[in-house]
Amino acid sequence: MRIARTLPELRAALAEFGPVRLVPTMGALHEGHLALLAAARADGGPAAASIFVNPLQFGPNEDFARYPRDETGDLAKLQAGGCDLVWLPDVATMYPADAASTITVGGPARLWEGELRPGHFAGVATVVAKLFGQVRPRAAYFGEKDWQQVQVITRMVTDLLLPVDIVPVPTVREPDGLALSSRNRFLGPADREAAPAINAALRRAATAIAASADVETTLAAARASLAQAGLTADYFNLVHAHSLEPISKNHPHARLLAAAKCGPVRLLDNVAVG
Ligand code: AMP
Repeated sequence: MRIARTLPELRAALAEFGPVRLVPTMGALHEGHLALLAAARADGGPAAASIFVNPLQFGPNEDFARYPRDETGDLAKLQAGGCDLVWLPDVATMYPADAASTITVGGPARLWEGELRPGHFAGVATVVAKLFGQVRPRAAYFGEKDWQQVQVITRMVTDLLLPVDIVPVPTVREPDGLALSSRNRFLGPADREAAPAINAALRRAATAIAASADVETTLAAARASLAQAGLTADYFNLVHAHSLEPISKNHPHARLLAAAKCGPVRLLDNVAVG
C-alpha cells in the first residue's frame, strides 16, 4: 500500500497506478468505510482512500478538535482491506493561505443538515472538489448513511461537469440496526442502548407509509417514539430522495430522513420507503 502525504508523492503514485477509485474519509475507520473500499475494489482497478479531517465542514461549536483520529489503526485497516493508495494531506495542502474559492451547493443542500449546520455542505463540497482535483479519480464512493451528502455531491458533480462517477454504498449497521459511525464511540452505555431507536422508528415508519398510512400521523408517532427512547429529534421527515424537499405522500423516490441527539452524539440515519 502506497502512502502519499504531499502532492508530489501523490502525483508520483498516480503516475504509476493510473486512474483510481477513491474513498474519501475523515479517518477513525470502521466497517462502513471498509464497505466503501470493498465496493471500489469490486468495481476493478486500483483503489485509493483519503483521510482528512476537514476543518471547513465543522461549525464553530462543533467537535473538530475532539473528532477521533487514529492514523496507525486506519492504515492497518486500509492495508487489510486491500487499499492500494492512501492520500493523507495536511491542512496547508488542502487550504493554502491564499485560497479564495469555495463551492456552495443549493438544491439538496438547502434543508436538514444544511439548515442546522450552516456552511457544512459548502465545506464538504469544497474539500471533495479539491480531492477530485488532486486525485482525479474515475469514480468516488460515498455512504448512504449520509444520504443528503451523497445527493449534494452528486448535484455538484452534475452541475460542474466533473468527470467522476459518484457511487452510493448501502449503510453498514450494527446487528441492532444502529448505523456505524466514527462518533458512536462517544455513546455511553445508556445512550448506546437508546441509539437503535432511530433506525427502529425509521423502519416502522417506512413500513407504515409503504402500507399507505397517513404520512403526518406516521411521522408524529415516529418523533414521539424517539422522545420516548430518550432521543431528541432534530428532524424526522419524508423527503424526495434526490431533491431532499419534504413530501406529504408516498412516492417512488421517497426517503425517510432523521437526525437525533443521543447523549453527546448526533445520530443520522435514513431508509427507503419500500
Ligand atoms: P466520514 O469519515 O464519517 O466522513 O465518512 C466517510 C465516508 O464513509 C462517507 O461517504 C460516509 O457516508 C461513509 N460512511 C460512514 N459511515 C458509514 C456506514 N455506517 N455505512 C456506509 N458508509 C458509511
